[in-house]
Amino acid sequence: MSLAPGREALDVSWDFEWWNTGSFEARGFFSHLQAGWAKTEHRAHVGLLQLPGRSVLFDVGYAPRFHDCAAPRLASIYRWATPATIPPGSSVRERLAGRKVDQLLLSHWHADHTGGLLDIPEATVWRPFSSHEAVRQEALSAWAPLKGILAGQFPADLPGRPDEPFSARLRDVDSAPLMALPVERWPFLAELDGRCRDIFSDGSLAAVDLPGHALGHYGALFQTQLAGRPVLVLLCGDAVWDERELTAGWTRGPAALFGFYSLRAASETTRLLRRLCSAAKACGMERDLYVLPTHCRLAATRFVAAGGRE
Ligand SMILES: [Zn+2]
Repeated sequence: MSLAPGREALDVSWDFEWWNTGSFEARGFFSHLQAGWAKTEHRAHVGLLQLPGRSVLFDVGYAPRFHDCAAPRLASIYRWATPATIPPGSSVRERLAGRKVDQLLLSHWHADHTGGLLDIPEATVWRPFSSHEAVRQEALSAWAPLKGILAGQFPADLPGRPDEPFSARLRDVDSAPLMALPVERWPFLAELDGRCRDIFSDGSLAAVDLPGHALGHYGALFQTQLAGRPVLVLLCGDAVWDERELTAGWTRGPAALFGFYSLRAASETTRLLRRLCSAAKACGMERDLYVLPTHCRLAATRFVAAGGRE
């Protein structure tokens, strides 16, 4: 499939909901130096995107099995550092209530993004294959929980063993064609040129390369309707933890020293997203772009106040 003549990318509006699957509280200072000593809520959102005949999840958040997987040995340190509260009814399995998901976009393998992976055994799963072997080695390591990985939440053949059921569902983000972005309509998108892949080959959604936080970390860019007008949403995963990294110059605290794959690449990605937001503002289109970090309560609240659904 390819874009029909006369059509441009990102011109279909997805039905979109931004679900909170659970959260933990920690002193703000640990995640952001400017947040002070007050306790801060860190949510684990997932995105449900729907078009007629297609249902997509971006990440699978927390699920109750997190508590079991994070109990033994070193994993208990991870649970102590991120003491998750997962309210009844908030996991993807409960919220989907039997509805099927066709496609899962997994931003990365950290435990707060993969809790519900075993609950959607039917979905095609999108990951950059280039990161498979390194992630498998990470997941098998005794130190995996200290890098944010709980292998107990994964299918047994994680990731990428040929002829195994889970591997048969994996698709390679890196092999999708680059997307030509609609920069005449939204000029600020020029900042993302060369890093967006048309994974469904129909221009409806872009996987956005946002490296640094974890191996093969990526986000998703698409159009949706907000209070009756089209806007672009960028689900940026953990590329930033709080939107104030983009709007107020906040910088990450000591928690960033644990689990990050490349602090240098993560800083470059943060600067890229700052440029994107600045460019949207410079062309008077800041209300046309919503960057939603997975863990940011503030961004989610702002999105819902503007008409978004949660
Ligand atoms: Zn996370």
